[in-house]
Amino acid sequence: MTTSFGSAASRQVVRELQAAGYEAVFVGGAVRDAELGKKPLDIDITTSATPSQVKEVFRRTIDVGIEHGTILVLMHGEPIEVTTYRTEATTSDACYPVYVASLREDLQHRDFTINALAMTVDGELIDLFDGLEDLQRKVIRAVGKPEERFQEDPLRIFRALRFSSVLDFDIEMETLHSMRTRLPSLHHVAIERIKTEMDKLFQGQNPSRAFHYGREIKLPEQFPELFAAFESLDRYTPFLHARHGFSAMLVVTDTPATELARLFKLSNDEKRFLKQCEEAYAKRKHRAFDSWDFYIYPTDILEVVGKIFNANHEDYDISKEQIEQYKKQLPILQRTDLSFTGKDLLRWSGKSAGKWTSDWIMKIERAVVYGHIKNDALAIKEWFINEISREK
Ligand code: ATP
Ligand code: MG
Repeated sequence: MTTSFGSAASRQVVRELQAAGYEAVFVGGAVRDAELGKKPLDIDITTSATPSQVKEVFRRTIDVGIEHGTILVLMHGEPIEVTTYRTEATTSDACYPVYVASLREDLQHRDFTINALAMTVDGELIDLFDGLEDLQRKVIRAVGKPEERFQEDPLRIFRALRFSSVLDFDIEMETLHSMRTRLPSLHHVAIERIKTEMDKLFQGQNPSRAFHYGREIKLPEQFPELFAAFESLDRYTPFLHARHGFSAMLVVTDTPATELARLFKLSNDEKRFLKQCEEAYAKRKHRAFDSWDFYIYPTDILEVVGKIFNANHEDYDISKEQIEQYKKQLPILQRTDLSFTGKDLLRWSGKSAGKWTSDWIMKIERAVVYGHIKNDALAIKEWFINEISREK
């Protein structure tokens, strides 16, 4: 294994903690990913120092997650997370850290063996629960007794599904068995935590694997409102991304976008995306997209709706490049490209401003997009005067 694990700044944090007399090692997902040959995103350090001791060692710190025992250390401007050895105690409505004396006790209460690996600053792997062997055999296995791990934090049931997708790993039999028996306790987990794992699941290497295990533990039966879609999302797996996962759920379950957004507490941005998907899909079910659709919907909406539709009908496939090509061929790309303004309409009609103005801008915009009128002030004026006089 490489001796230069982590960034220079994160190694310095470990060394300074050690120089102050504390234990400190790298831990968790970063070690796992490094062993898999992947570049870790966020690096976690675990230490015997308490949060207040960590704050004494470093000049610049931020109390980001002090309630979980985590302090953010700013080293050469780089934020490094340092967490005190701990286990998580979960009550029905709160999680709080219980500090423990040794690295072993900390690792003992992590979720899976592959996530319970640690590494010293010199690049020596600390593998107390055979996590390396499980990594090599591509197995997700709870640390110690699975029942106990899932009882400590039922979210881990869903995390196992997430990792089966992200890493494309099997779930070990006893672990899977406990997931099935402990599943009802997932009801007590905050939906925000589940949603975070869902996003990662959708973006994993093999979401179908997670859907399969979800069915094995009877997730759709026990949580029909949230997870009925696990019965039939497989065919969409080649193109699921965070948001696209929820778009596919929309279609397979017939759950309205607003309802899905409410159930999973989606952000306003995600909700808007989903509502647009819903609207565009409703159109696409009846007919191919026309110029107006290519004009009003962003490329990613057209892309995901096209793909979801294609997964069901197999007579239509549209690539991102094709969508961009269609968009380029439109006479205008946005309203501000129109070669007239509301003021022109007032002048041409001699009327005063009112709701009619925006209605007519929209009408003209459509006519231009469909190619019925050229985007040219004179042509628009002529068309407008003609139409408005017919309306009287
Ligand atoms: P990712 O690559 O998605 O960040 P990760 O393994 O780093 O995956 P995190 O959610 O960032 O996952 O958590 C970091 C580490 O903390 C995990 O590797 C695991 O050791 C531990 N951990 C996180 N959440 C839990 C949990 N609910 N129960 C037990 N251990 C957990
Ligand atoms: Mg992480």
